[in-house]
Amino acid sequence: MKKTNINGLDREGLESFISSLGEKRFRAQQLYSWMYEKGVMDFEEMTNLSKPFRSKLNETATISRLKLSQQLSSQKDPTTKFLFELDDGQKIESVLMVYPARSTICISTQVGCAIDCKFCATGTMGLTRNLSPGEIIDQVAMVQQITGEKISNIVCMGMGEPFHNYDNLMTACDILSDDVGMNFAKRHIVVSTSGLIPKIHQFTEEGRKFRLAISLNATTDSVRDKLMPLNKKWPIRELIESVQAYTEATKRRVTFEYVLLNGVNDSIEDAERLKKLLGHLSCKINLIPYNATFGEYKRPTDSSIQQFYEKMAGSKVPVTVRWSKGDDIDAGCGQLATNAN
Ligand code: SAH
Ligand code: SF4
Repeated sequence: MKKTNINGLDREGLESFISSLGEKRFRAQQLYSWMYEKGVMDFEEMTNLSKPFRSKLNETATISRLKLSQQLSSQKDPTTKFLFELDDGQKIESVLMVYPARSTICISTQVGCAIDCKFCATGTMGLTRNLSPGEIIDQVAMVQQITGEKISNIVCMGMGEPFHNYDNLMTACDILSDDVGMNFAKRHIVVSTSGLIPKIHQFTEEGRKFRLAISLNATTDSVRDKLMPLNKKWPIRELIESVQAYTEATKRRVTFEYVLLNGVNDSIEDAERLKKLLGHLSCKINLIPYNATFGEYKRPTDSSIQQFYEKMAGSKVPVTVRWSKGDDIDAGCGQLATNAN
């Protein structure tokens, strides 16, 4: 009989598995707490479970883990990239960035990505498959276990479009933020989307308390259509409206990410338009100088990045430049693509 992988099952999932074994429901809560609150992944170490129940679990269930296949540390930044192998042999990447006051992990949500943004290495892979909730949360558990680092912040900005795998992502984020689960503060979990408008609405309507980031990357539809083909379906104006509905309903601030591409979206006119587009919103802007991939694009010079920044800095909207960490190990934004390894 094939064993059931219970890593990533939420309370409901564990309850239905437990009842299929003919066991009492409170057992589900015990398993939940062992796996996610205490990080114990071996049934034999779950000491408050009776011996017969533990052997039943050993016969019927597994707690499947990611396999570490490579770990690379940057020479320049306190950044480490982890390459993990999944049960079916697929590979995903996670990146840990250690700062003095916090440690942030950037996790993947899919193998590849279907959105096909032209400046992104993951985009060139196409989509292979969604990650399960267990594969999403285990990136955090494994990196904590491997490094001993107490991670404080989680950003879903690795491989994949998180909202393209909405249900699994939400199950994972619920376990990550559950105070009797992995106990991360909801405001310390950021979900970044390229702009799947129906999912932004759903996220708003469900009252999700994780933070939202939007990859805007252009100020006109003609440029965004070329950079991010999904813009043809969900153009800038509708995107901004959906974000405004979110900020008004939740009273939360959104982050806009804007990859700076030399000669494409980095003109002073772009900065002006960006100010106009976002000036009325409760938001901040992260300018991300382009990191080299296999594409045709170039990073603007430092002085034009500075000019763009200064133009924006005069507006009401707070602006920061996100100098990606770990670009010497291809761990920067948009550089994750496991078929390149
Ligand atoms: N798919 C999601 C999250 C992962 S991408 C999204 O697109 O939002 C995380 C961020 O990296 C996005 O803001 C994206 O615009 C940016 N990015 C992609 N490729 C990049 C590159 N080559 N250089 C710098 N940033 C890049
Ligand atoms: Fe996918 Fe985000 Fe890369 Fe676009 S930028 S291809 S949505 S991972």
